[in-house]
Amino acid sequence: MLERMPFFGPGLSRRTLLATVAGSVLWPMAARALGVASSIRVHDHGTHTRLVLELSENIEFSIFSLAEPYRIVADLPELDWTMQGSPLAHPTGVVKAVRYGLFQPGRARIVLDLLDPAAVKNAFVLPATGGTPHRFVIDLEKTSREKFVAAAGPQNRIGALAATSAKPVPAKGVAPPGKKEANRKKLIVVDPGHGGVDPGTIGLSGIYEKAITLAAAKQLKSRLEATGRYRVQLTRERDLSLELAERRDIARAAEADLFISLHADSIANKDIRGLSVYTLSEKASDREAEQLAEKENSADNIIGVDLSHESQEVRHILVDLAQRESMNLATKLADRLIGELKRETTLLRNGHRFARFAVLKSPDVPSVLIEMGYLSNRQDEASLKTEAYRGKLMAAVVRGVDTHFGGLQSASRG
Ligand code: ZN
Repeated sequence: MLERMPFFGPGLSRRTLLATVAGSVLWPMAARALGVASSIRVHDHGTHTRLVLELSENIEFSIFSLAEPYRIVADLPELDWTMQGSPLAHPTGVVKAVRYGLFQPGRARIVLDLLDPAAVKNAFVLPATGGTPHRFVIDLEKTSREKFVAAAGPQNRIGALAATSAKPVPAKGVAPPGKKEANRKKLIVVDPGHGGVDPGTIGLSGIYEKAITLAAAKQLKSRLEATGRYRVQLTRERDLSLELAERRDIARAAEADLFISLHADSIANKDIRGLSVYTLSEKASDREAEQLAEKENSADNIIGVDLSHESQEVRHILVDLAQRESMNLATKLADRLIGELKRETTLLRNGHRFARFAVLKSPDVPSVLIEMGYLSNRQDEASLKTEAYRGKLMAAVVRGVDTHFGGLQSASRG
């Protein structure tokens, strides 16, 4: 029962709202400066599952649901999160897992992964009383799959916080998009995988992939810039959720010469370690590569993005659009990266692999994805946590990029 809920203006008293028998209560509040979120709790009350977020102040919110898999998404103003890690030790009521974080500048997001289809029964903010802080409360109750699916989608958003169409702000210090000129410095867009609500894979020691990829991306940026030959833009400079399409769009809008996405993997077999470089292909090089692509492509499910518009046909059209030249350039770059990286670290067998990564599907920007190692492997994880090891890898990437552009220049001269 995720129908649109009755809307109550702030003029109504708390008593009036809480006395509402309909059970569907919204309590919009005026937007304020950055508030502090101090804890999230989930309780199973039998008839319903209740989420409570403790806040330093009143906030506006909006909520919608997404199917495949079942999720409830709550959008909030940007918050300063003082808690760390997962608020749920184990599934509670209908909630399997809770993710939270910065979704876009100015916008925080909580994503509830559900065990069963469930509808929002109540959603409201209780003001602080005595020593108790403000509390944002969502009550969920089980519903049928049919009802859930019928009410799903951001278009069925409930609550006062308006939907935003804001695109991620381009990273600081980036030149505005301009025409490609022969003499300008090459622009490389570096994409730290995951972020915000989506932690990526979680390492043996609990380290998040999103933290490793951001640290490595910053190191790659400074090393590339230090050569004096490149301009570098990061798709995110902080712990922020980004859709895969947005990451591509940043590279395309900036007319990037290269797009490098950084990731780290994990796998059940803890002995497996090593680095690999991926380029786009409709046909994966093997089943493992295909599974990895599926895992990385599911990032949009994790951050709460409606992928229903990304139909099979669109996917095929996108790939068809991919110019052969971009794919050829990406393949050449991948081979050069492999050549340099194998001097610094262990590679997976078939270091250069092919898979259908959504993030690589820019038709006009040669794009590669580097899986820097396995966070499920003790040695790889320990190495990737050190600045020195990441620095060695990123230095090898810079050499590979240098050889790539050097080779292109001499080829065009000759
Ligand atoms: Zn990843």
